[in-house]
Amino acid sequence: MTIPLMDLKAQYISIKAEIDAAIRDVIDSAHFIGGPMVTVFEIDFAAVCGQKYCVGVGNGTDAIYLSLRALGVGPGDEVLVPANTFIATSEAVTLTGARVILVDVNETTATMDPVDAAARITPATKAIIPVHLYGRPADMNPLMDLAQQHGLVVVEDAAQAHLAKYQGRSVGSFGHACCFSFYPGKNLGAYGDGGAVVTNDADLADEVRRLANHGRLSKFGHEKEGINSRLDSLQAAVLKAKLPHLATWTEARRQVARAYNERLNPQLVVLPEIPTDDYHVFHLYVIRFPRRDDLKKALADEGVSCGLHYPQPLHSMEAYRYLGLKAGSLPMAERLCSEVLSLPMYAELTEEQISKISEAVNRHAKILA
Ligand SMILES: *Cc1c(COP(=O)(O)O)cnc(C)c1O
Repeated sequence: MTIPLMDLKAQYISIKAEIDAAIRDVIDSAHFIGGPMVTVFEIDFAAVCGQKYCVGVGNGTDAIYLSLRALGVGPGDEVLVPANTFIATSEAVTLTGARVILVDVNETTATMDPVDAAARITPATKAIIPVHLYGRPADMNPLMDLAQQHGLVVVEDAAQAHLAKYQGRSVGSFGHACCFSFYPGKNLGAYGDGGAVVTNDADLADEVRRLANHGRLSKFGHEKEGINSRLDSLQAAVLKAKLPHLATWTEARRQVARAYNERLNPQLVVLPEIPTDDYHVFHLYVIRFPRRDDLKKALADEGVSCGLHYPQPLHSMEAYRYLGLKAGSLPMAERLCSEVLSLPMYAELTEEQISKISEAVNRHAKILA
C-alpha cells in the first residue's frame, strides 16, 4: 500500500454528499459562468481572508498577472521574485512585459530574503512578489518597509497559503493585492483550475474583474484588451462547499507537521520549523537532506511517495537562461533546491501512516548519511 504525497480522493469521500449536491445545483441552474454561485463564493472567501473584495479568476497564474497589470506593471519595469518558487510566479511577470529579477531566499523560511531583495532594487524596480512558500508567510515586515521606502507595488503570492497568518495578521492584508490558486492539490482546491485576487482596494478589484473579462466595461464597451480568465460556477460551487471545512483541514495539516517533527530525527534530517509567531498552514512539509535523490528513491521503494518543491531554482532552468545568472549567484536557493524533500502531507493522514513514514525516513537517512 503506497502512501501518496497527497490524497484528493480521501477528502472528497469525507464530504461527498455536500460536493455532489453543490455540483448538481449548478447543473440544474444552467448558470455556468458568473452568476450567484461565483458571487457568493467571492464574498465568503474575501471574509475568510479578512479583506473587502475577492475576484474569482481562471487560475493562480492569471491572478498574479492580472494583479500586476491592474497595478500598472508593464514593459520597462523590474519585478522582484524569489528564485525558489513555482515558475508561475515569474511567468506572470514576463506576461506583463516586465523583467523578472530573482532574489535569494532565507534558509529557515525558504521565502524571499529581504536583505538580498534590497540589494537588487534599481530605479526600474516597480513591484515585489513575496511568495508564502509551503504555506509559511514570507517575512512581510522588512519586505513592506522596503516597498514603502522605494514606492513599490506589493503583490502577495499566496497560492500555497490559504488562511496563513504573519504575526497574527492574515496573508493578503499586507500587499496591494494577494493572489490565490485553487488548483486541485492546493490547501483549498477546486475540481479543475481556479484562482482569486483578494484586496481592500475597490478600484483595483474592479480593474482586475474587467481585465479578467476581456477588458469589458459594459456588454460591448471595451476600453482596452483584457483576457478571458473567469472562475466558473462549477468550480465556485466546489470551493464554496469546501470553504467551511478549510480551518479544520488546516489544523489537521498542522497536527501532521507536529507529529512528523516529534518522530523524525533532527540529527539525521533538517526539519521544517513550526513558527510560533506565524500561522504556517503546511501546504507542504519539506525536510532537507544532502542525498535527497537517494532518500526519495529509497522511500519510493518502501511505498512512500515524496515530492520535490522545487528541484531547481528558476535561474538554472532553460527558460531563464537569458537572465545570465550563473551557478552560485543565488546560493541559498540553489542549496535548498538540491536538498529539499516533500513528505506526504494531507489532512487525512493517520498517526499510523505518519509513524511508518517517519520510521522509514529515519532508517534510510541513517544508512545514507
Ligand atoms: C500553484 C502556484 C501558482 C499558480 O497557480 P495555478 O492555479 O496553477 O496557475 C503560483 N504560485 C505558486 C507558489 C504556486 O504554488
